[in-house]
Amino acid sequence: MSNSDPSIQSFDDLSLSESVMKAVKKVGYETPSPIQAESIPHVLNGRDVIGQAQTGTGKTAAFAIPILQNLFLEKQENSRRSIKALVLAPTRELALQIYENFREYGKNLNIRTTVIYGGVPQAKQVRILNQGVDILVATPGRLLDLIQQRKLTLANVSYLVLDEADRMLDMGFVKDVRKIVAMVKHERQTMFFSATLPNAIMSLANELLYQPVRVMVTPEEEMIDKIIQSVYFVNKKKKINLLVELLKNNDLKSVLVFSRTKHGANSVIKLLEESHVRAMAIHGNKSQSARQKALAAFKAKKIRVLVATDIAARGIDVDELSHVINFDLPEVPETYIHRIGRTGRAGLGGFAISFCSQEQLDLLKDIEKHLKMKIPVVTDSAYSIEFTKEVKPNNKNTSRSNKSSNQGKQQRSYSRKRTKNNKVIPKNFSKHDNRNKKR
Ligand code: AMP
Repeated sequence: MSNSDPSIQSFDDLSLSESVMKAVKKVGYETPSPIQAESIPHVLNGRDVIGQAQTGTGKTAAFAIPILQNLFLEKQENSRRSIKALVLAPTRELALQIYENFREYGKNLNIRTTVIYGGVPQAKQVRILNQGVDILVATPGRLLDLIQQRKLTLANVSYLVLDEADRMLDMGFVKDVRKIVAMVKHERQTMFFSATLPNAIMSLANELLYQPVRVMVTPEEEMIDKIIQSVYFVNKKKKINLLVELLKNNDLKSVLVFSRTKHGANSVIKLLEESHVRAMAIHGNKSQSARQKALAAFKAKKIRVLVATDIAARGIDVDELSHVINFDLPEVPETYIHRIGRTGRAGLGGFAISFCSQEQLDLLKDIEKHLKMKIPVVTDSAYSIEFTKEVKPNNKNTSRSNKSSNQGKQQRSYSRKRTKNNKVIPKNFSKHDNRNKKR
């Protein structure tokens, strides 16, 4: 495992060329983030890298800056452009985000980057490819499609990045990824980024990388410390009322609401509109242009609330997101961390509020176990209710009606009384915010 090099305190310590430094200064970065300080020197030295980092840690620049620098140095005047760097991303949103970062960092370098993804007509993408590009950011499906149509070749690719590899695996892209990698030069430099490194991911990495340096940041704990978390126990049918109630507080300036399903996201939007709250949704059933429109409106602060499903939210990068609301708790504890990490970006801090209905108590329990902490329960809303959790192996039914038949079994109470034992008992949001301002 590579340790952070203490000699790298600023971008000046990375020996980047003047034009790259100019672009970095222009985007306003002062010091490299930990993943950047760890990865950039290795990538500049030609090493393969496995990076364990998720969106929000600055990992895009960790591969984009050294790739741009290397391409800039390798550039031969008047040579024909060909794709020399390929970045694979699982979702369109992430692909676009990466593309935008390359464009920003690569200003003034005469290096062309483009992005291709499915769900939109291919003609414009092909036209840009025909004009010649140096760096291609792509989702696997559209890339294979265009390769099969002989619209592009990967024969000259000598830098390969796999971003969010664990998500690629989850989304069933691994076969496609293998097919694509087989078309790239054998003598290449490969960078592999993933939020988690389970066995399946490590074996894929071992297959694709040559003597990689492993770099890792532990953003989760750092990030979680900066995020003020709370949970409301609420009847499933009253979640929307609670959301509307919370949104009356103007301290909730920019709110990303997570819904478990596309249908759920649509119904939240409908009910918010009925309450005169302007909101938009992004999920897999929305067209690419509708998603981009919603994201742009949210980033420009034209709408206060964006409702998203997990997949669509991958790669969403909104600075100064004040609140994440888990309208539904996620099934997987890691997803909870990814979600709440949308706020707290670049160390800014933020708030994460979860709505937990009776049937989601087990999910909450799993999340708390994973976080190794209790999430403080807010009890002062008109919609707050009290639950009693019965711990019953092999029986998922936790409804109150079953309580009497399970007397004597171990019980876990999430009642108001229990919350007094918590270190922090948030009463309302203005209190949260005051605490935040003081920090
Ligand atoms: P990423 O993890 O690549 O999605 O980056 C998350 C956010 O951090 C983006 O808004 C970047 O613009 C920002 N960022 C990346 N590197 C730095 C840096 N060194 N200093 C400040 N912000 C950064």
